[in-house]
Amino acid sequence: MAPYRPRLRADVTLQAEPDGGFALIDRVLNRGVGLDPVTLALVHALDGRPLDEVLGGVEQQGLPRADIETKFRQLARLNLLEDAGTDIVARARALGSGGQLPPLTLPEARFACQASGGCCHGYTLGPLTSADVARLQALDLSALVAGPYLDEKTTPAGKTRHYLATVPGDEHCVFLQKDNLCGIHARFGAAAKPNFCQLYPLQAVATLDGLKVYDNGECASFSTSSRSGPLLADQVPELRPLLPAARFELYHPVVMLTPGAQLDHGHFLRVTRALWELCGRGLGSAGDTVRAASALSRRFVEALRDYPLGPGQPDATLDALVATDPAELYATVARTPPTPRQLSRVALVAGILHESIEAKLADATFQGSLYRQFADAIQLLRRVGLARAQAGRTLAEDDQRVLAITWGDDVEAALRASLRYQLFSHRVLIDERMLPATLRLGIVHAVTILGAKQSAASARRGVVTLADFDRAHTMTLRILRLPVPMGVLVAYEDDAFDVMDAAPALVG
Ligand code: SF4
Repeated sequence: MAPYRPRLRADVTLQAEPDGGFALIDRVLNRGVGLDPVTLALVHALDGRPLDEVLGGVEQQGLPRADIETKFRQLARLNLLEDAGTDIVARARALGSGGQLPPLTLPEARFACQASGGCCHGYTLGPLTSADVARLQALDLSALVAGPYLDEKTTPAGKTRHYLATVPGDEHCVFLQKDNLCGIHARFGAAAKPNFCQLYPLQAVATLDGLKVYDNGECASFSTSSRSGPLLADQVPELRPLLPAARFELYHPVVMLTPGAQLDHGHFLRVTRALWELCGRGLGSAGDTVRAASALSRRFVEALRDYPLGPGQPDATLDALVATDPAELYATVARTPPTPRQLSRVALVAGILHESIEAKLADATFQGSLYRQFADAIQLLRRVGLARAQAGRTLAEDDQRVLAITWGDDVEAALRASLRYQLFSHRVLIDERMLPATLRLGIVHAVTILGAKQSAASARRGVVTLADFDRAHTMTLRILRLPVPMGVLVAYEDDAFDVMDAAPALVG
């Protein structure tokens, strides 16, 4: 067999940077990739020599072979070599030449507002666009609201942003009526509302796989709204004009697979598709599915960090992984119960998240009923994690009573849908990093169930209802996309798989 002779893609150029460093400029994927000394030496050696000579030549400069191979894989994972990610580069090139992105939705996704008013509560309602502000100011709103209806805030950069005012002490929008309907909608029609109210909870992101349109899962009636009304696919034409222009710009970042290992977003889309498809097969319980998704994610990460060096990689490695038999994944997780160490890591992360939320609640001027509920649920997760991790440690009777509360098939279906929706959406990354988002999936699952159980317990019910689920689910998704909790998730990203593996065992 002819030796593999790797080369940079012909349209990638090496450029000197003002700081004295070098970068590879990829005009098709519209980015520059800074080069460290090892990678720069590799790039200079990619002149058509066989791979062994490339690696050996760089090694002779006194650089460790393992580092050189790691850097070589990174070049391939970013599609900078001529036979890596060829399909991704071809699709990006076609898009750059005027191609259109087709809409992409989860096939079963539906949405219909349930008019509960829950989404107009407990939120920062904005920022409004200048068109929103102008439209509202042109309306006679005096019959709807007596006082000011806009809050002004100044960003750290000194810019003024407008938000809808909320009713003090009750945290809901000033336009929300007693019948839980929107006053602006009722009096002037849906199109008069601020743009984000018309779209909520639907969002879009332009990816190489298509213009993804999805439910962000934060609807206060998610379990019902996500399976009511028309298919989301059929709603795309009317949603398109409401989407901000930025939503049509291609989102194609370099993804941080693990600290130090970068991956082109086109490959990452294949990873996430495999995950959300796995969640749609209905092969096990919601908890088993979290663990199966963890097992598959872990395989992706390990294989993409250390795949065999050769032509057509890492694509061939990904081809093999996306063909993984889902039944085998579920069987694997069934054979491997969480370890005490994993359980204690869940307790640790839960404890840190709890501290971060309590610090926010210590501000007496802060209104945050969702924060309070979240703090209670995550604290319960911490206590259960500690009790299960340490032999001889028992839970308080109150906690045991909450844990003994069960849930039925309806809640089980909602939990599965939530996981699948999250994997399809922007929640699959935090700061373009995979592991913190993976960690969040595990925490969302556990805190949603525990929060729902606490809600059922306070109503003296022995079984969780969909209303309990919705309350806890909305709270959890809203809180875990805020900067402080997300900072905790980033700081503890090394615990992602341990939490995914162990958290489901703590809530049943
Ligand atoms: S303007 Fe209407 S839809 Fe928007 S938050 Fe207020 S009540 Fe809700």
